[in-house]
Amino acid sequence: MTFSRADVAIVGGGIMGSALAYWLTRLDPNMSVVVVERDPTYATASSALSAASIRQQFTTPVNIRISQASIGFMRQADELLEVPGGVVDIGLKERGYLYLARTSGLASLRRAHTIQREFGADVALLSTSELAARFPWLHTADLLAGSFGLSGEGWFDGYALLSAFRARARAQGVTYQRGEVSAMDVKNGRIECVHLGDGTRIASRYVVNAAGPWARSVAKLAGFDLPVAARKRTVYVIGCRARLEPFPLLIDPSGFWIRPEGVSYIAGMPPASDPDDSPLEPDYDAFESVLWPALAERIPAFEAARLERAWAGYYEMNLFDHNGIVGFHPQVGNLLLLNGFSGHGIQQAPVVSRGVAELICHGRFVTLDLSDLSYNRLLENRPLLELNVI
Ligand SMILES: Cc1cc2nc3c(=O)[nH]c(=O)nc-3n(C[C@H](O)[C@H](O)[C@H](O)COP(=O)(O)OP(=O)(O)OC[C@H]3O[C@@H](n4cnc5c(N)ncnc54)[C@H](O)[C@@H]3O)c2cc1C
Repeated sequence: MTFSRADVAIVGGGIMGSALAYWLTRLDPNMSVVVVERDPTYATASSALSAASIRQQFTTPVNIRISQASIGFMRQADELLEVPGGVVDIGLKERGYLYLARTSGLASLRRAHTIQREFGADVALLSTSELAARFPWLHTADLLAGSFGLSGEGWFDGYALLSAFRARARAQGVTYQRGEVSAMDVKNGRIECVHLGDGTRIASRYVVNAAGPWARSVAKLAGFDLPVAARKRTVYVIGCRARLEPFPLLIDPSGFWIRPEGVSYIAGMPPASDPDDSPLEPDYDAFESVLWPALAERIPAFEAARLERAWAGYYEMNLFDHNGIVGFHPQVGNLLLLNGFSGHGIQQAPVVSRGVAELICHGRFVTLDLSDLSYNRLLENRPLLELNVI
């Protein structure tokens, strides 16, 4: 049985835990940080199974500001995450998101556009004829408008970003320890020590819950409930021979999304029923019965499309309001949360993790105020209402 001490113990070494480890040791090179990760292959981690896309088209100021800062980080990731002898390439492609609206969605599309412009997002509202001219492969007869991101939106290689944070964190002195956090000693409202399944104990000044879809079970170890559930989402890889350019990340009014991935496309949609903890088996039936017909209607060239393969991962769904929960837990004094990002976590990771590092190093948010994402809103029953959740 081993015992060790650290300034910060992070539970989970996905994008949240690894980005946090990077920021902590960047802000304070003398800080000792241990990341406990039970599966270094990341076989079921959301960060490895994500669609890894980034948008400015949110409707809450805090989410828009996070995206603005995050795209800035991603544009410079090769420098910020560089390690001696390594090359960082997160493959960022800024080709925009395109939200489409029929009659029923027009008012909310316009409302979202107004908020986004107010907070400086580079988005344009396109009329039906402008949509047809810009995207000639799109069926526009039932559309009234589209909201298109002119810059700051697109996609990247999520696994490459995770690997780069991890490699740079290690180069800055962070220890990655393989193991599962299975118990916590909590006394007088503080976690004194975390226990791993193999009997190892780690005592630390701060503990961070970065356990993604498994955050609720980690919170339980500290004695409280966190309304974050693992909800399966399938990503379909689709081949289509026609050349359809330019092709953004399209969000259809029927609910599906699709974007290019290499020479193919990836697409997904919310499931008809959404139970917790479903096994990570892709839902092939839904492709045949729901997604393909909807795709072919919106993009006629997809009538001849072919499903190449599919995978499934978990959204770490915040059941309270579908937004991240960031910062100190009000009742467990040295526990911080980086949880519940509900399908928009990988794009927010560079910025929300910096916020938590600032709380630990400076006692407050310094570069961007993230207090709208604090746990207190759950206690006070004040949901943060974000209209654009995918
Ligand atoms: C299909 C899909 C598409 C997505 N698309 C997008 C997108 O386009 N844009 C976007 O921004 N986000 C997207 N997301 C969401 C995004 O991937 C997640 O928000 C993000 O990856 C969460 O990162 P994380 O580090 O919190 O979780 P994870 O990557 O799951 O990491 C958590 C880690 O904690 C470890 N762990 C858990 N419990 C313990 C324990 N007790 N002890 C030790 N280790 C533990 C796990 O092994 C895991 O590696 C998508 C997600 C999915 C599933």
